[in-house]
Amino acid sequence: MAKHAANLRSQGKDIIDLTLGEPDLPPPAHVVTAAREFAAKPLGYSPANGLMELRAAIRRSTVRDFGLEYADNEVAVGCGAKQIIFNSFMATLDPGDEVVIPAPYWASYPDIATMLGGIAVIVPCEQSNGFKLSATALSSAITEKTRWLVLNSPGNPTGAIYSEHELEGLARVLRQHQHVMVLCDDIYAHIHYGKAPPPTFAAVAPDLRDRLLIVNGVSKSYSMTGWRVGWGLGPEALISRIGAIQSQNCTQTSTLSQFAAISALDGPQEILAQRRAMYFDRCVDALEMLETSVHLAVAIPDGGFYLFVKLPPCLDDEMTARALMSFGVATVFGSAFGAPGYLRLSFATDSAALREGCKRLVDGIARLMEKDR
Ligand code: PLP
Repeated sequence: MAKHAANLRSQGKDIIDLTLGEPDLPPPAHVVTAAREFAAKPLGYSPANGLMELRAAIRRSTVRDFGLEYADNEVAVGCGAKQIIFNSFMATLDPGDEVVIPAPYWASYPDIATMLGGIAVIVPCEQSNGFKLSATALSSAITEKTRWLVLNSPGNPTGAIYSEHELEGLARVLRQHQHVMVLCDDIYAHIHYGKAPPPTFAAVAPDLRDRLLIVNGVSKSYSMTGWRVGWGLGPEALISRIGAIQSQNCTQTSTLSQFAAISALDGPQEILAQRRAMYFDRCVDALEMLETSVHLAVAIPDGGFYLFVKLPPCLDDEMTARALMSFGVATVFGSAFGAPGYLRLSFATDSAALREGCKRLVDGIARLMEKDR
């Protein structure tokens, strides 16, 4: 949908793009300054799993932000969180191995799993359960072939955050299935709207540490999507296989980006709270607009920067998203996240465009409902 919107815009059409999962803001100023300085120096290759200095900065920030300790050989740096997920599945999946993915999900999880010969086992999670995987549903989804469970909290596209209690329930099930690894995609961990930071699975179930891969990066928190720095924290054997794949793949992520990521992690952190507050204001703004529609149902998310909007049952989500494009607003249909009947819109967009985009969405839905009568 983003590509389609960009095409239409290049033809001069007035489209407000609410599809994108990336902040509209620049990285912190000190990151840009550091990158300028390093760009002027000779920059060579780094180790496949990342510069020692970056791995040290990741370890420090993981203690500071999440209270979790990892050793140097338990850290792998890649070209974004996505490459860590790709490499970890490549390192572990045999043909026919299953990956349990709660839906709604970030579309890349099933795509990567199936691309690598695995089977994506999609477990629908109802809105009435906060779009979250229950212990019972997890228990029914696990088979002898299950290799991974993917957990994403705060989640894309719903913004749902698992409570400690919910994570404990999942951990209890996982203790009975020693062969299942857990991939915790914490890429939105710093973007949350409650008083306390989201609980992490690693803190709730420290006994499962050896079966856990935590994935994070600078893309979303520090507005550095294009710099392509993400990392995985996990057991040494897995990390070393991820490194072996990385070294024959693209060798490493950009050395310059790695220095920039060190500056983001070690520099002033106030920006995280400032941006959280800004996203929250935008979210409230967007909700105000959307709530003027009698046809739409949408709740404030716990985290992330997306609204997951429920459509009236008579509207097909894909057809609606395509029709809304002709009313000048681009969104992503829920089926792309394994959740038909919804639209995702991103509020990582400047306030004026966001308000206008939501207005177009509300008006567009009203017109489609008129037609449907
Ligand atoms: N995980 C989730 C849930 C995401 O939404 C995204 C990007 O949209 C990523 C991972 C990818 O992050 P990165 O840019 O670090 O590859």
